[in-house]
Amino acid sequence: MQRLVQQFIDNQWRPSRGGRYLPVVNPCTEEVIAEVTCGHPDDVDAAVAAARRALPGWQQTTGAERAVYLDGMAEGLSRRREDLARLSAVNNGKILAEAQLDLDDAIACYRYYADQARALDERQGQPVSLDMEGVQAHSYLDPVGVVGLITPWNFPLVTSAWKLAPALAAGCTLVFKPSEVTPLPERELADIVLEVGLPAGVFNLVFGDGEGVGSSMSSHRSIDKISFTGSNRVGEAIMAAAAPGSRGVSLELGGKSPILVLEDADVNEAADYVMAGIYFNAGQICSATSRLLVHEPLADDLYQALGQRIDALRLGNPLAEDTDMGPLTSARQRDTVLGYLTQADQEGLQAVRDGRQRALPQQGYFLAPSLYRDVPVTSRLWREEIFGPVLCGRSFATEEQAVALANDSEFGLAATLVGKDAARVRRLGRRLQAGTIWYNSPQLVLPETSWGGFKRSGIGRELGPWGLNAYLEVKHLIGPAA
Ligand code: NAD
Repeated sequence: MQRLVQQFIDNQWRPSRGGRYLPVVNPCTEEVIAEVTCGHPDDVDAAVAAARRALPGWQQTTGAERAVYLDGMAEGLSRRREDLARLSAVNNGKILAEAQLDLDDAIACYRYYADQARALDERQGQPVSLDMEGVQAHSYLDPVGVVGLITPWNFPLVTSAWKLAPALAAGCTLVFKPSEVTPLPERELADIVLEVGLPAGVFNLVFGDGEGVGSSMSSHRSIDKISFTGSNRVGEAIMAAAAPGSRGVSLELGGKSPILVLEDADVNEAADYVMAGIYFNAGQICSATSRLLVHEPLADDLYQALGQRIDALRLGNPLAEDTDMGPLTSARQRDTVLGYLTQADQEGLQAVRDGRQRALPQQGYFLAPSLYRDVPVTSRLWREEIFGPVLCGRSFATEEQAVALANDSEFGLAATLVGKDAARVRRLGRRLQAGTIWYNSPQLVLPETSWGGFKRSGIGRELGPWGLNAYLEVKHLIGPAA
């Protein structure tokens, strides 16, 4: 059994000061496969000090120099793709094919930010066009400094790539805390960092839970900015903790995203998009399209098609080739989702499929998909992020109603539109309040386009040039024209 009792600081493994440990569990077998330290504030202090020491040297490197390391990270992940995908499937419970997609996303992200780092050199010292005679101004982009990166358990190596790659590209040094639930794939990043020869102290990996490590990072006065992906509850605590000292935060939080099926949609095609939007990764996706809005005349056919597809989904070992859905990642998450199904009973919701009624593997945190129709907008299941394989549907009569229902949420991370008339779906897409709108498409996540949400789904954007900007300060030099 692996024991993650050391922290990776200054390119060395050092014993953690933390005296408490958490089990790391394979959610398919319920076996304890590793143990991870809860960490200690002293570990954070040591990591921050290392990052601070490394900053002056690292921030003076050119973007082109940093790009070499980022390409090396991509290369290191590429070489380990199969092993890391298996490790991610074992630790997280996602099926192997999805874990392989995750690896491809992470690799593409490091490569993209290698290019962005090279392009950053070109962006330095750009003249600014001024409406004043005899004065000149030039713009520069400096790294924010030492950054703290905190990630959740649903996409190991991906949510971290979205932070690590742009932070390194920008010239920041960092302290990274992965989720205590899925530390195993992220641990391998330290080996890659050593392999690519990143200077000591630039990348520091600290294991721990929210209490032992996360909260000391967010309140640490020597961390210039925190970038966090996770729940709204924790995101808001981090924002409050960062307020003294006026330190910056970027937050990628929850969602309750809609999928709209318009009257001219092909029912079978729509059913495929609906299934992928909610049951991928067993519904543990921040952008899960967990609210289905279907045009009234299509509703019966669509629910029937969805019911058939749900029945055909094969739940089982994530490593087996014929598995479509693995277990939920933790007993805790499974119990949270079960709580929502009990709530559905209390509210008298109409179940097209009830995940509790299906025979499941004896072991593991499995939960079969549930689907409810005609769910009232006041239902907790309609309004709250469930983060599991539970889809709630409602019908609409007009386009206006569809848009109003879609936007009637405190979240605004993503949305999907399905309909034959491409001009119409794009027009409707412009009216939705969300950071990413897919139309007639699965949930493509591309390093070149932004990721992040409106409203309570977060603050700031990851990916694309926006993801890099999150780690840059803008500076202008202004003076007499030469
Ligand atoms: P979580 O908020 O419980 O934990 C996320 C991370 O924060 C973990 O590393 C955890 O140890 C740490 N943490 C916990 N308490 C902390 C504290 N007080 N201070 C600092 N750090 C602390 O979230 P989770 O259960 O791991 O992940 C699920 C949530 O993440 C969902 O709400 C989901 O929507 C969200 N998520 C959002 C995105 C996005 O891009 N918007 C992506 C993935 C997940």
